[in-house]
Amino acid sequence: MATPRYVDCPNCGEKRDTSGNYTSPANQERDQRRWAEEHESGKCAANGPRAFSRDQISGALNRAADAVTDLAAQDDRVGDAINLVVNATLTFLESPDADLEAAVAANYSDSVDDVLGWVRAGN
Ligand SMILES: [Zn+2]
Repeated sequence: MATPRYVDCPNCGEKRDTSGNYTSPANQERDQRRWAEEHESGKCAANGPRAFSRDQISGALNRAADAVTDLAAQDDRVGDAINLVVNATLTFLESPDADLEAAVAANYSDSVDDVLGWVRAGN
């Protein structure tokens, strides 16, 4: 895997990994095209910072989680770990001081030890 190579947008400071580690060639082309349209053009500076609603973030996170979980449908631990990341992310957005245990308590009816145990290596 290639080392990440970041380029910074001179207009808004956003970083883009150009190494292509996590994307297909087709997606790299799409990302480059979007980067040119949004950042190299200077459009990003005119729009100000982008903000997404909680529903948009939650929707995108859950779609990504489902898609990645489907890759390992036989392995419950993968799905459990990904769901935990989604739930913790949404909790941390609203409660920046919350820790993982608090995120579990807020999102699961099972005990914190049980939920962490589903994901912990060696179980
Ligand atoms: Zn930019």
